[in-house]
Order: sequence, then structure tokens, then C-alpha cells
Amino acid sequence: SLTAGIVGLPNVGKSTLFNAITKAGALAANYPFATIDPNVGVVEVPDARLDKLTELVEPKKTVPTAFEFTDIAGIVKGASKGEGLGNKFLSHIREVDAICQVVRCFEDENITHVSGSVNPIDDIEVINLELILADMESVEKRLQRVGKMAKQKDKEALIEEPILVKLKDALEKEKPARSVDLSEDELKVIKGLHLLTIKPMLYVANVSEEEVADAANNKYVQQVREFADAEGAQVITICAKIEEEISELDDEEKAMFLEELGIEESGLDQLIRASYDLLGLATYFTAGVQEVRAWTFRKGMKAPQCAGVIHSDFERGFIRAETVAYEDLVAAGSMAAAKEAGKVRLEGKEYVVQDGDVMLFRFNV
Ligand code: GDP
Repeated sequence: SLTAGIVGLPNVGKSTLFNAITKAGALAANYPFATIDPNVGVVEVPDARLDKLTELVEPKKTVPTAFEFTDIAGIVKGASKGEGLGNKFLSHIREVDAICQVVRCFEDENITHVSGSVNPIDDIEVINLELILADMESVEKRLQRVGKMAKQKDKEALIEEPILVKLKDALEKEKPARSVDLSEDELKVIKGLHLLTIKPMLYVANVSEEEVADAANNKYVQQVREFADAEGAQVITICAKIEEEISELDDEEKAMFLEELGIEESGLDQLIRASYDLLGLATYFTAGVQEVRAWTFRKGMKAPQCAGVIHSDFERGFIRAETVAYEDLVAAGSMAAAKEAGKVRLEGKEYVVQDGDVMLFRFNV
């Protein structure tokens, strides 16, 4: 399954945030989550539509879909040259599908900052540069080999070489690989390089307890926003310490606590949804009287593949899917009414499933 990695310099609040994630996940009693890896935290994806469907169908059980975060500790200046946990750290990043970079935006004289003072842009640049340097090494190594093969008119090398040159040019200007405009085909050619800076990234601005309700006016958050805007990246503002407290509360207590703080949605919930989007993920639902459930799929997946998310037998024996859009179902008020209104479609093998589709799969066993 897809996972987002949490990175950041030491003392920015990564462990605090990751604690919040694992605690929130442990509370999610719906899942017999069998993660053995202590660096992986599983959380439920908050989705108001699931609550609405539950009201409508009144099932015995409601099951949200889940999402994984991976804690990647240990980046310091010089990581690409093997400083700190260096290469080990970088190899962990290679395994994740998106990166959440935690940035310290809180002042606290008792907590040392690795470079002496709080400066989010410097921090971001330190991390981004390490990732760029690591990629530069991968690209240059590959380019040496491919360049030789291209000289001998190797067909594949002739295709790959100009792509590598484009990447090298960008990295030399300290721009991430994701900033290079590459076609789907070009991306496939360089997939094996497992570049770090090609992965989508979002920034997590960690502010103090006092400032979380009014974080938009925090000067550090503003700096991070400006930086992220220039890259077309998203910023989520959280107070990791508060998230840790929230993660121990039940839903009702959580709602009251958030209201007291003047926050609409917990930072962790925002982060989960933003990471989900960043990975190109979407949700479809199944809504039976036994169980109403949310399922994760990758945008662009067709009906049989989506059926396969539930069980591989569903994909193999797929015949068709009775499908109704969430909005149509809610507007009609019940599945029977939606059918009467002609809103329930019979979709076949080529149907590209849409976010919010409510589906019933028909299949041969
Ligand atoms: P890591 O090294 O990035 O994993 O950072 P930690 O999560 O261990 O946090 C470093 C220190 O900062 C700890 O003492 C935390 O309690 C503190 N800290 C983390 N988040 C916040 C926050 O939002 N506000 C304040 N005041 N302290 C925080």
C-alpha cells in the first residue's frame, strides 16, 4: 500500500507528531491493524460522507478506510555524504510514495534548534538540498553508463540520455526532479532510479500551542507558505503537542476540545486528507445493511481493479458494478429511491471509478 514519509530536522516535532498518529491509529478499533514495523503508523481517513451513508443505510457496522505514515528519523546536514544516519535515512525515503516535511515554526528556548535559531526556510533548504544532492549522484552515475551506451547507438539509451540531461540541469540549479516537466513515458524510463525529489512533498508547519488558532498570522508560517507557493506545494499547520493530546480523546471529547481551541478540524485530520490527495488517492464506498465501508483506490483505476481492492476474486470474476454517485444517493434518500430515479448505473470493465461512487460489484466465483 502507499505510504507518506515524515521527515524533518531533529527537534522539529516529528516524534511528537508520529506519536499522535500511532495513538490515533491504535484507538481506531475497527482495524485489526497488524503492523509490525514500529516506524509505520496507520490512521483512519476522516470522511464526513461515511457518516452520512451510515445515517442513510443504518448498517451493523461502519468501517473507514486507512492510510499509512512512515516515520523517517535522522536527517541532518550532510546526510547525502553519509553524515548522521545518512544513507540509511535516504534509503528509507526511497521506499515512501510522498513526503511530509515537518518544519519548526514554534519558539521554545528550552528546545535547542540544530542551527541555533528558528528559521524555517533555512531548515527546508537544508533538507531539500540533501535530497537534491542524493539525486544528483544517482543521475550522474546513470548518465555515465547510459552516455556510453548511447554512443554505441543503443536504442534505449538514446531515449534515456536526454531525459537524464534534463534532470541533471534542474538538480544543478538546486531544483527538485518533480519540477522537471516529464511525460508519462519519460517518467517510466527513469522510474528505476527511484529519485527522492520526484516524490510529491507537502510542508507541515509545527506551531506552538498558543499560536495554533491564529497560525495564519505567525511569521514563520507565512514564510513557509510563501516558499511552498513558489513550488506549488501545500502547507498544513499543526501543533504537534496538541495533536498528541487530541489523539487520546474519543470523538466527542475531541470535538469539544477543538471548539475550545478555536480550530475547525484537527491538524492531523487535515494532514491525513492532504497526504491522501498528494498520493492521487480517492475513496469509493460499499453500502450494505451489514456494513458501510470506505475503500481506497488510485485515481484512474477501472471498476475491476477497484473491486480487486476488496478481494482478488472480485477482480478476476468481475461482471459489472451497480454504481451511484454519493450526491445522487443522498439526494434520493435511499438506494431504492435512487434506482427509481434512474441514478443507479450498470458499469462495465472499462468504467473509470470516481471519488464518492457507491458500488455494488457483481462477479462470478
Ligand atoms: P523530533 O526530533 O523532530 O522528533 O522532535 P520531537 O518530537 O522529539 O520534539 C522535540 C521537542 O520539541 C520535544 O521536547 C517536544 O515536546 C517539543 N515540541 C514538539 N512539538 C511542539 C509544539 O508544537 N510546541 C512546543 N512548545 N513544543 C513542541
